[in-house]
Amino acid sequence: MARSLNQVNMETIVSLCKRRGFIFPSSEIYGGLGSTWDYGPMGVELKRNVKDAWWKSVVHERNDVVGLDSAILMHPDIWVASGHAEGFTDPLVECKNCHHRFRPDHLESDSCPDCGGELTDARMFNLMLKTFLGPAEDSAHQVWMRPETAQGIFVNFQNVLVSHRGRLPFGIAQIGKAFRNEITPGNFVFRTREFEQMEIEYFIEPPEIASKKGNPSDEELHQEWLNTRFDWYVKLGMRKDKLRIRQHGDDELAHYAKSCYDVEYEFPWGWSELEGIANRTDFDLGQHQSHSGKDMTYFDDEIQERYIPYVLEPSGGADRSTLAFLVDAYDEEAATGSNESRTVLHLHPSLAPIKVAVLPLSRNEKLVPKAREVHDIVKANFVSQYDDSQSIGRRYRRQDEIGTPLAVTIDFKTVEEDNSVTIRDRDSMVQDRVPIPSLLEALKDKIENLSLGK
Ligand code: ATP
Repeated sequence: MARSLNQVNMETIVSLCKRRGFIFPSSEIYGGLGSTWDYGPMGVELKRNVKDAWWKSVVHERNDVVGLDSAILMHPDIWVASGHAEGFTDPLVECKNCHHRFRPDHLESDSCPDCGGELTDARMFNLMLKTFLGPAEDSAHQVWMRPETAQGIFVNFQNVLVSHRGRLPFGIAQIGKAFRNEITPGNFVFRTREFEQMEIEYFIEPPEIASKKGNPSDEELHQEWLNTRFDWYVKLGMRKDKLRIRQHGDDELAHYAKSCYDVEYEFPWGWSELEGIANRTDFDLGQHQSHSGKDMTYFDDEIQERYIPYVLEPSGGADRSTLAFLVDAYDEEAATGSNESRTVLHLHPSLAPIKVAVLPLSRNEKLVPKAREVHDIVKANFVSQYDDSQSIGRRYRRQDEIGTPLAVTIDFKTVEEDNSVTIRDRDSMVQDRVPIPSLLEALKDKIENLSLGK
């Protein structure tokens, strides 16, 4: 069977996610809550694998980036210093007829997309969600839910620098929840009001210092990060022709950015941002220095000078990339010469929620104990699932739909003849027979080859 290149539509993805336990509408038994979603048993594994793959590549495999997990609720002055209290706004228009609200920059015409009515003039709307700390609900106790994880990194700059003896260039990475009161959330988990970010603040020498020392400039290091981040998606199996890098025009740049590029994916509704990679200059550390009165400089002992570093920020979304990996992996394959088709997620093995399924051919009393024994061996080494319900064909289809790369089947030959099992490959559907004592090694080899795209 060949991998078809037909475009999947979002309804198909949403329904697969519900049916197979990836993503459910949140608060569903109460009628749901606008654009909030819960990750089910398969979704939580997939999203965790996305975050683990990111952390491994940006923290564990580098020696210039360390991790952080800062609080969601922070001192309100942080958002004044960062400019979010004043400037983290989107334009909002309302239809004078049906009163639906929209972001004018997301509209294709200047009339209401729902009823054709006339729209109001745009007004700016702050996207930060508010709450109160303590029992008094007054402005003195008001705090914001962070709209980005980045500020938790900036305010810990000196803590990390000192405790970690950091030297430029060095980065701090963080994964965590962020909240934005989006005017028009939608496209499943692409744009929600509660989401998870994966952000790196990579501190570098400002341009005049880099040029004085003959080191790579902020712009050169920016290009390096673009390549590094683009390659990460490709290495995890995303089709290269569905990815592109787009530079922001001057009118799109955030208040803190000197330049910014987006890594975009071609979703079923069109090209959209997966990750933004911005040059935030010394804006944030400079703002925190002047608002907090605390020193935010770095002492460069090579040239015996103090300065505020520049910062490059690769900032991605865990939910958006999980969605992109799902969409990209989805395939419906037609068998040559028959009307049958199967749905399969060609997920990279390191992202697949389950790596190995262990399946007795049937619930026969000889097969089940042997299959349990095999599962005990496998589960200590791979995230695996034992399943003996329904027919074997249906169980293969289920594993294909959740993207399990390998299925081990225990049949009568296993118990009556030679203590061997079959390993079925999700993509080629080819089955190999291996003796149980060599099973783990064979599974490791196959997973390794699949990871390399062989
Ligand atoms: P957009 O233009 O789509 O609103 P943005 O440019 O405001 O996004 P950033 O502030 O650069 O987004 O945030 C970094 C990343 O966080 C985004 O690339 C995206 O992956 C993720 N992200 C931002 N907002 C949301 C959201 N509402 N829902 C899900 N993920 C989000």
